[in-house]
Parts: sequence; C-alpha cells; structure tokens
Amino acid sequence: MKILIVDDNPTNLKLASEVLACEGYVVESAEDAERAQEMLRHSVPDLILMDIALPGMDGLTLARLLKGDPAYQHVRIVALTAFAMKGDDQKAREAGCDAYITKPIDTRKLPVQVAEILQRSASPKAKGT
Ligand SMILES: [Mg+2]
Repeated sequence: MKILIVDDNPTNLKLASEVLACEGYVVESAEDAERAQEMLRHSVPDLILMDIALPGMDGLTLARLLKGDPAYQHVRIVALTAFAMKGDDQKAREAGCDAYITKPIDTRKLPVQVAEILQRSASPKAKGT
C-alpha cells in the first residue's frame, strides 16, 4: 500500500513518514499541494494524508480536485488539521475527504487510523459507475 503525505511542516512530515514506513507502507511526501499534484501524475497512492493548511493551494482544494477526477476518485484522502475547530470535519467531508485527523499526530494511533481507513471500501460517491 502506498501513502502520500502532504504537509508543509517538515517535523510533521518526517514523523508521519517514519511512523508509516515502519508499518511497511511505501511512503512518499510532498511539502505543498503543487508538488503533490506533480507527484500524483507519476504515481497514484492508495491513501493521501493531507494537511489542510498549506502555502499556495490548500489541502481541501486539492482534495476536491482529486475527488472530482475519475483517475483519483478512489484514492482515500485523510484531512490533517491543527485547527481543532468545530466544523472542520464537516468542511473536510464536503471537500470529499474520507476521514479527518487532528494534529498533533498521535504516533500510536496513526497506524491504526490509517489501517482502518484503508480497509474501508471507497465511499459510494467515489466508486463511479
Ligand atoms: Mg500546514
């Protein structure tokens, strides 16, 4: 299983990458949405951990673009946000995200959360016809 992590915070990016690589996932990382788009052209991951607050294009905008594209609709997207604000999970779902994780990342929980989301079948909306 391949996971792409998009986060402009190098510490978070490194932490999440190491935790997931330890679990046996193939992990790729991008520091912003534009770089992520570039990488997605070459390889499609099973899941994207997507920071919402990014310089340039924000994570929810990229999530919306990907969920609207038949080539990427099936990719599970997990929104990552530092804002534990009410309504953020709603915004993430509206953008098409499959799940939502609040930062700081809990290194013990993250692998469990990711495994759970990967086991779920893609949302009916993302299945296409
Ligand atoms: Mg950020």
